[in-house]
Amino acid sequence: MIYADNAATTRMSEAAVRRMTSLIQEGWGNPSSLYRHGQIAKEYLEQAREEIAGLIGAQPREIIFTSGGSEADNQAIRSAALLGKKKGKQHIISSAFEHHAVLHTLKALEKEGFEVTLLDVHENGIVDPSEVEAAIREDTCLVTIMAANNEIGTIQPFREIGAVCRQKNVLYHVDAVQAVGHIPLNVIEDNIDLLSASAHKFHGPKGVGFLYAKKGVRLFNLIEGGAQERGLRAGTENVAGIAAMAEALKESMAGMQENAKYITKMRDRLIRGLSEIPHAALNGDAQRRLPGNVNFCFEGIEGESLLLLLDDKGICASSGSACTSGSLDPSHVLLAIGRIHDVAHGSLRLSIGEDITEEEVDYIIQAVKETVEYLRGFSPVWRDLMSGKKEFIL
Ligand SMILES: *Cc1c(COP(=O)(O)O)cnc(C)c1O
Repeated sequence: MIYADNAATTRMSEAAVRRMTSLIQEGWGNPSSLYRHGQIAKEYLEQAREEIAGLIGAQPREIIFTSGGSEADNQAIRSAALLGKKKGKQHIISSAFEHHAVLHTLKALEKEGFEVTLLDVHENGIVDPSEVEAAIREDTCLVTIMAANNEIGTIQPFREIGAVCRQKNVLYHVDAVQAVGHIPLNVIEDNIDLLSASAHKFHGPKGVGFLYAKKGVRLFNLIEGGAQERGLRAGTENVAGIAAMAEALKESMAGMQENAKYITKMRDRLIRGLSEIPHAALNGDAQRRLPGNVNFCFEGIEGESLLLLLDDKGICASSGSACTSGSLDPSHVLLAIGRIHDVAHGSLRLSIGEDITEEEVDYIIQAVKETVEYLRGFSPVWRDLMSGKKEFIL
């Protein structure tokens, strides 16, 4: 099996598995308990907090642990919205191709009286900081724009957007779930006030993540209960998962430069190979994208059929985000970069990691070429395109 769906989730690293299993066995006490057993768990928890904070340029007190990226996104956005509302500011700026954890939270806030401006992400899948600046109003309380897109991998100019927000005195939240552990990021240098991350996107366990909130940015809790996480997130902490997340992040950061160099080389080999397919196009900017992300549209085919046939050939890929696969709606990300419905349906996302070999990349290229040709062989849309009844777009 060739795993090329790292944007959906990553396999846990061996070091993270070791840390997690050892803590499940040794650190199982409740960190809120006062006896020794609880205090040992508490120490593991605080050690993980320190490690994670240090790796992104934050202070330990600025990190709270959550159940993952979605929860961190929800809490960050809702907190900023509530702070804004208290000051009579109910306008939020975001982009059209955010993750649903962001977009659906914004939809809910609209129903509660907030106004949301979704910025254009252009054909290349990149938000223009000057357009962020132009969209900021007197009543803007939050800008939430992701660091890197989960479907097309484009990297946003988050430092520049952060600088604009600082200058205009507006809070800036970054969904950095795809970026943390993969590209350099530092909350101070990058002018970030709130940041969401998720362990399972950087070889940590699922169901655990963290939210960074800059000192002075008040958080409100989504989950009421005990006083864990300084009263900001109730519920007994997932100590083993949190410690494994810290381990995975440490490892990802240490290997980042070397891994990114290799993965980028493999990515570009994939892009070159797939570009030979007629009437195909890469989605998103060719350079300013995550090292491991390749996303193509092939005219005249259905992405779902392509995925099933690739699965038969031992390749795990995706047609967009894991959250939308299973639904027949085309990806909102591909629509946002201007792909029309028909074309957006024929998409393929390959997100590779450092374990991919050159032979595997070549195998993927060959398999995709053959499968696209095979599917076009009996596609009515392709027949119409070939006969001139319909016009090619790509
Ligand atoms: C995966 C992902 C999320 C959701 O994270 P979970 O930990 O799975 O809840 C949010 N944003 C982006 C960009 C993602 O890729």
